Amino acid sequence: MDGFVNVAVRIRPTFKNNFCSTIKLISENPWTLQIDERSQYTVDRIFTEDTGQLEIYNVIVRPLIEKVRLGYNSTVFAYGQTGTGKTYTMGSNPEAYETDEPGFILCSISNFIENLSDNTEIYISFFEIYNEKIYDLLSTNKKMLPIKGIQDLMKEKLIDLAQAKSILRRGSANRHVGETKQNSKSSRSHAILTIHFSSCYQDTNISAKLNLVDLAGSESVKKTGNQGYQFQEGVNINKGLLSIGRVVNALATNVSFIPYRESKITTILQDSLNRNNYVTLIACISPNPDDIRETIQTMEFTQETKKIKHRPEFTSL
Ligand code: ADP
Repeated sequence: MDGFVNVAVRIRPTFKNNFCSTIKLISENPWTLQIDERSQYTVDRIFTEDTGQLEIYNVIVRPLIEKVRLGYNSTVFAYGQTGTGKTYTMGSNPEAYETDEPGFILCSISNFIENLSDNTEIYISFFEIYNEKIYDLLSTNKKMLPIKGIQDLMKEKLIDLAQAKSILRRGSANRHVGETKQNSKSSRSHAILTIHFSSCYQDTNISAKLNLVDLAGSESVKKTGNQGYQFQEGVNINKGLLSIGRVVNALATNVSFIPYRESKITTILQDSLNRNNYVTLIACISPNPDDIRETIQTMEFTQETKKIKHRPEFTSL
């Protein structure tokens, strides 16, 4: 992992399904994956199905936490087709706070809490972008209504792990889920958990944040077989994902205009999605040969992201 934009791939386990995956890890230096005879992709890191949550967190997120402490905003995106393990990896589902294999969210929060001192503070905000509207997942209102803007989000100060878990449970339980052909409980929204860190040592104030983003499923609207309202929902999901691709591309090609305003997610993450901060994409893919078209689409997205040039002044993440 060597730059300010890093791209990793995680292959979901096959579980006990009756199929034989065609995906092969070709090499570790560089990390290269073969999806079928015609498609090979090189990324910064590949995690095969037997890699555990903690190992992935240590490689992907831990180094970013160190950057946050130094004052750099950092963002991790989980991208991929529904059912490939984005939510599991991020740990933005309620079960993630009860297991000994939690995802990035709980591991990151534990790390910050363990290192709290009289001079440091952490807050979290947790929200969802659903159909281009922002919903505050930490809101205590029974009926979730969209809020006007990011400035109205609740921020909860974290004190210890038990209190953090109870706040996270409340937030995760508020997430939108819908029924599609792809997955009976698929997430159709982008969920963003932000850890706001601040410290003050000898008159030096540092504040920065870590955004952990569980993106909505990247599958095409056609494949989900949706119509009407759900079709519009799918169009908005694609709009958000495409706009992340466009912003990343614009950053890669050094143009002066970066199209942040094309979607809510890029508008909100504008202060983190740029050359002065750190971004890591974890692309989650299915081992099932039936999903090969979506897998190739996800791998193509990783290649667009990799086009961003690395800042020479920063070495290894
Ligand atoms: P997505 O968020 O991409 O739609 P999920 O995270 O909901 O996918 O994963 C789909 C199912 O597979 C869930 O039941 C999840 O617990 C399980 N799963 C995904 N990845 C793993 C993994 N690496 N190990 C064990 N179970 C996993």
